[in-house]
Amino acid sequence: MKIERIGVIGAGTMGNGIAQCFAAAGYPVVLQDLSQDALDRARTTMQSSLARQVRKGTLDQAAADATLARITPVTDIAAMADRDLVVEAIVEKLEIKTAVLKQLDAICRADAVLASNTSSISLTQLAAESQHPERVIGMHFFNPVPVMQLVEIIRALQTSDAVAEAVSAVTRAIGKTPRVSKDSYGFVVNRLLAPLINEAVNCVHEGLATPEDIDSMMKLGANHPMGPLALGDLIGLDIVLDIMETLYDGFDDPKYRPSPLLKQMVHAGWLGRKTGKGFADYTA
Ligand code: NAD
Repeated sequence: MKIERIGVIGAGTMGNGIAQCFAAAGYPVVLQDLSQDALDRARTTMQSSLARQVRKGTLDQAAADATLARITPVTDIAAMADRDLVVEAIVEKLEIKTAVLKQLDAICRADAVLASNTSSISLTQLAAESQHPERVIGMHFFNPVPVMQLVEIIRALQTSDAVAEAVSAVTRAIGKTPRVSKDSYGFVVNRLLAPLINEAVNCVHEGLATPEDIDSMMKLGANHPMGPLALGDLIGLDIVLDIMETLYDGFDDPKYRPSPLLKQMVHAGWLGRKTGKGFADYTA
């Protein structure tokens, strides 16, 4: 199974990083979003990420220019027709991801691989919505994508061995490390990480300590490179809430109940870095 041409759907926090990583490794990428604004913002983000690498001396200017030139931004999903692998990175809602998967089923070749960057939704449930469930797989990248090493590969019950092997191979080809997880709510990393962030929010809610002190305690006491609240702000508190709701509903277990304060922060639109305010202020 040859993977040469890449499609990425959704040009937000994750989509632009995923597109950049494939392009940096030499793959031609079509990056699609419904919003032209999101595509314009994605280009600016990728430009500054590449410029940072040039400043650090880890990339030369010609390679940075070539990376950007390999990415074609589009608003029409029909451009995915000739892609070998399409990675979807849109909102974490089952019904919206299913609708896009059905569109891709109609547009793409029957042997094209359809990967989802979902943080927590069941791949088996997503695959069941495809006419070719064996080609559906999870490719869970981490934020910020150009920096983070891991890609969690999630096999749906229906995913074929050939698809799982091809996706692990392309992950290595872009310089990342694949680790395979069986399909389950939150897979491995978010099953561990989201409850930690949620519990840190509960600590703020109960007034145990300030957000700064909670983060500092986890850095100094547990050797975490970043505190859980700063990490929640980086991921996006709406995404953390989505993951907690998926764990809570999926396992039907009260231990995954989302923190009331997490819900309030999301209702207030205080989503973290992307809105300028979360547990810290990012407007400066
Ligand atoms: P985001 O809100 O930053 O970006 C989503 C983008 O998708 C937006 O630009 C939006 O315009 C676009 N979009 C929405 N519906 C679309 C559609 N039907 N067709 C095309 N484009 C559409 O979200 P994000 O943080 O990049 O998250 C995307 C996915 O990645 C989610 O499934 C999330 O759970 C997962 N994820 C996020 C993180 C993280 O740290 N943010 C980490 C790993 C995985």
